Amino acid sequence: MKVIYSKHYNIDLGLLNYLHPFDGTKFQTIYDGLKKNAGVEFVEPSDAVSMDIIDEFLSSIMQHRVRNKNGIFQALEVPRIPLIGFSFLDRKILTPMRWGVAGTIFGATQALKNGGVYWNVSGGYHHAMQQNMEGFCIYNDVGICHQQLIKNGLLSANDKILIIDTDAHHGNGNAYTFMENRHVTILDVYNAGIYPTSGYTRDRVDIPVPLPPGTDGQTYLQRYSEALEKLDNDYRLAFVVAGTDTLMSDKLGGLCLSIDDVAEREKLTLKALSQHSIPTVMLGGGGYSKDSAKSVIRAISTCVDLVRQSRDSHFS
Ligand SMILES: [Zn+2]
Repeated sequence: MKVIYSKHYNIDLGLLNYLHPFDGTKFQTIYDGLKKNAGVEFVEPSDAVSMDIIDEFLSSIMQHRVRNKNGIFQALEVPRIPLIGFSFLDRKILTPMRWGVAGTIFGATQALKNGGVYWNVSGGYHHAMQQNMEGFCIYNDVGICHQQLIKNGLLSANDKILIIDTDAHHGNGNAYTFMENRHVTILDVYNAGIYPTSGYTRDRVDIPVPLPPGTDGQTYLQRYSEALEKLDNDYRLAFVVAGTDTLMSDKLGGLCLSIDDVAEREKLTLKALSQHSIPTVMLGGGGYSKDSAKSVIRAISTCVDLVRQSRDSHFS
């Protein structure tokens, strides 16, 4: 299994790490937990995505807002700190996120060229959109990636794309980004009792699985399996926002999955996509608990064998 990781993904604010429950160095922990796994091959993008590519995607107002520290503070849901300038935020938080976007583009490009699964441990910024940034998401990596793949001739605008979103939060940014694009199918499993609650974006989801707060793993996996059966088999590419904020220990997600449940979920995802031979890029998404890194390590380890077996029969 190809796992996309760069040491540049890590967000380390030093003394300011307390500002957000997000464990910004979990990517390093995931790498350390998998580096001895013979079934994992680490690959990485060569550079962070450029601001030119970001700007191509953004509305003109957003091109200014992503360069303004107050807007960034708001989107990151942290208090404004007068002494911190934009350059600090850019270096410590936004540049790692642009590496994450580069990882998504790299993974999608490779998946389209070679088939199979590329697992970006970062990315999955599903609350960002052309006109807004929120929920700790600044750049909508799926939208930016889709735009670049078409521009580079790897996809046509009419190619069918699948977005599966199993993060605990509804992916309003992806829904908004592809609001008018009927070539993009969205399957979204989310806690219906938490942010974001916009009916406008929730209604865009083609295969919605809204769950009540506190849903347990068994129910979640049952409902998710039923949803996966509704997928077509002719998608050119699948993006999967595999957030680990569905874990019971996560304070923000409000669902009750165990680490094994999340691993089982990723197995269900990859089994369904491999049955349809859909090139796939997995994305980190949200995950704010102390168990998040442990859960990703378990999930990738569990899926390594599955992907290896599937590659011979389904993936080319
Ligand atoms: Zn989330």
